[in-house]
Parts: sequence; structure tokens; C-alpha cells
Amino acid sequence: MSSTTQDIAENILRSADLIKNSHHVVVLTGAGISTPSGIPDFRSPGIGLWTRYLPMEVASLTAFRHDPEKFYTWLHPLTSNMLSAKPNPAHYALAELQASGYISTIITKNIDGLHTRAGAINVLELHGSMNSLTCINCFQQVPSEGLIHEFVEHCTVPRCKYCGGIMKPDVILYEEQLPVKIWNKAEEASQRCDLMLIAGTSLEVMPSAKLPILALDNGAELIIINNMPTYVDVRAGVIIREDVAQVLPMILQEVCGA
Ligand code: ZN
Repeated sequence: MSSTTQDIAENILRSADLIKNSHHVVVLTGAGISTPSGIPDFRSPGIGLWTRYLPMEVASLTAFRHDPEKFYTWLHPLTSNMLSAKPNPAHYALAELQASGYISTIITKNIDGLHTRAGAINVLELHGSMNSLTCINCFQQVPSEGLIHEFVEHCTVPRCKYCGGIMKPDVILYEEQLPVKIWNKAEEASQRCDLMLIAGTSLEVMPSAKLPILALDNGAELIIINNMPTYVDVRAGVIIREDVAQVLPMILQEVCGA
């Protein structure tokens, strides 16, 4: 069932009211906020990155250690795609709401770094990011700049300049735990917030999918902007089933004025 234009306008007003009247707003984003930037949701059926290979075969820690070349071959199209992607109006709208004091924390499952590139601060990247690499031999961590461009250009496995070991991007692979410090901060922020704005995620993957429950348990309201249903829709104050890159700038306009 598609929403009418009037429904959408009303829901944007309600969202703006909730944002203006809350004290601690936390945002949770997923792949859907980066698809308007041209980054495919690589878990979606038919998109290819997950469907051409079984993820456990290439994107697990065991697979990486066993066959890093295969891992990097798999990662190559995703990386070059991410390098050329730019933040879209949804990222900018959130960054501006945050700069205006309406949003405290942004929790994201995305590894593309686009929230930060749009100017957002206090971004908790639950699945890590492509911004740095760590040597699997000596654990030296380096910024990915340079190494990643070289990888995209020549498709060679990045090596550690200290020991020659293989570098692994600081993204969370299968079999890996979410980074503990970041996860703890995300839990804390969710438990403390009085409004959680969920944008571009269908909340299908645990443990991040349980963050809205922590917010609800604290009495928080939920706003959900996503083109698919989620399991917490029944408990949400506002549901907008539209493109985040269109809706978030409209909410920003309503909250901050022209
Ligand atoms: Zn090393």
C-alpha cells in the first residue's frame, strides 16, 4: 500500500515536531541511506556482490586468512564504487540537523564513511569502515588513503610497509565480533535517547536490529523512514515508506526553516 501525498506531508510535520521536542535524538542508518549515492545494498538479492559468491566463502575471517587474493578480488568492485560515491541529500540533511543541535549520535551499519564526509560528527560505525587497514601480522593500523587507491587501480593485495604482512580493511567480516567500544557506545546512546530516527534499514541483522528495542524500553519514540517494513513498525510513532534522500531534506526544512 503506497502512502498518499497528504499522509507523507503529515508524517513529515509529525517527525519535525518529535525532533524539535526531544532532548536526545539518536539516528540509526543502514544500506538504504547510501543506495541514492549509488552504493548497492550488497545484501540485497540479485545485486550480485553477495549472490555471486557465498559470503562465508569470501567475506569471513577464515576465508580472508586462507585466500586474501580472492577476498580482495571480491572487494574490488565494492571499493571502487565506494571511492567514487558522494554523500547524498539524506547524509547532508542529517549532518545539518546535527550541526543545528537536534541530533546527538548517528549509529550506522554502513562502511562507506559517507556520514562523516557529509560533515556529521559522533558517528558510530558498527561494522567498521574502509578508512583504515590493519596488518594481520604485526597489527599496525594505517589510514587506507593511498593504499586503497592503489588497490583499486592495480587490484594488488595491500601489504604492510613495516613487515610485509597482508593488510585487512577495518571492516567487520563474518565470524568477527562488532567492535566492543563502539557497540557499547551505541547501546548506551540507544538506552539514553528519547527519540530514535531509523533511516534506510529494514532491521534484519542482529545485533544492531535490537537497538530500537533498547530505545523503546526507555520510553523513546521511533520514526522509521524505510521503503520496506521492519519488525518494530507496530511500535513506531511515525512510519514513512519513501526514499530517505527525499524525505530527510523535507524534515530538515520543517525543523530548521528555510
Ligand atoms: Zn605488519
